[in-house]
Amino acid sequence: MIETRQITKRYGDLTAVDRICFRVEPGQVLGFLGPNGAGKSTTMKMLAGFLAPTSGGATVAGFDVETQPLEAKRALGYLPEGAPSYGEMNVREFLEFIADVRELKGDLRYKRLDDAIERLHLDRVLEQPIDTLSKGFRRRVGLAGAILHDPKVLILDEPTDGLDPNQKQEVRTLINSMARDKTIIISTHLLEEVHAVCDRAIIIAAGRILADATPAELEARS
Ligand code: ADP
Ligand code: ADP
Repeated sequence: MIETRQITKRYGDLTAVDRICFRVEPGQVLGFLGPNGAGKSTTMKMLAGFLAPTSGGATVAGFDVETQPLEAKRALGYLPEGAPSYGEMNVREFLEFIADVRELKGDLRYKRLDDAIERLHLDRVLEQPIDTLSKGFRRRVGLAGAILHDPKVLILDEPTDGLDPNQKQEVRTLINSMARDKTIIISTHLLEEVHAVCDRAIIIAAGRILADATPAELEARS
């Protein structure tokens, strides 16, 4: 489960996220839909424990992201926005690094690595430096890292951004296949993404929630 309480982030005079409250139950995929600058990534970073809220807070899998950061981080997988630079690291080294961070050992480690590589179709690029790959491949490498330890909660910031239509479809199928036993939140600026994978969508603009509805309800309003 994910729950926020009046979570707020200010950058100087700008309130990027303004007293947002929502709750996502296990088995749900929540879409966080909004235009550029709405506050989506800022919210995702706070949920993932990479950015401290100015006020308010959140719990992930029952753990407070500020007072129980290690437990919260252990329970979640996070796909950051965009394409962070990984220096010289190749795909295999990155996944091994994440496996170390996640303390995956023995048979389970090999099983989880094989599973992530297969699900994201990374076998052909394992030895390539991540920074030399296309944006679509870099997103898939990031996703493989996020799902590697089979976390209960997934926080995915624009998971299909930069992918071609086929790759988008594959990642959406992957998200749907994982949905049943996880709590998932994805950010997106695409209404079609909400229709493809979400049970519910929060529409956010200028840091505020404008609507909280099912895809069918959104359709009926537009
Ligand atoms: P989205 O992910 O919806 O595009 P963001 O969460 O990235 O939106 O940004 C929300 C607002 O906060 C934007 O106006 C953005 O310019 C601003 N912002 C984001 N990060 C910072 C930062 N580190 N310093 C100052 N302003 C920021
Ligand atoms: P920074 O705090 O400078 O972003 P980190 O070393 O914490 O650097 O992480 C760098 C990148 O590695 C992150 O943006 C993320 O993509 C990935 N990463 C690190 N730790 C994890 C993790 N436990 N699970 C998934 N990805 C991770």
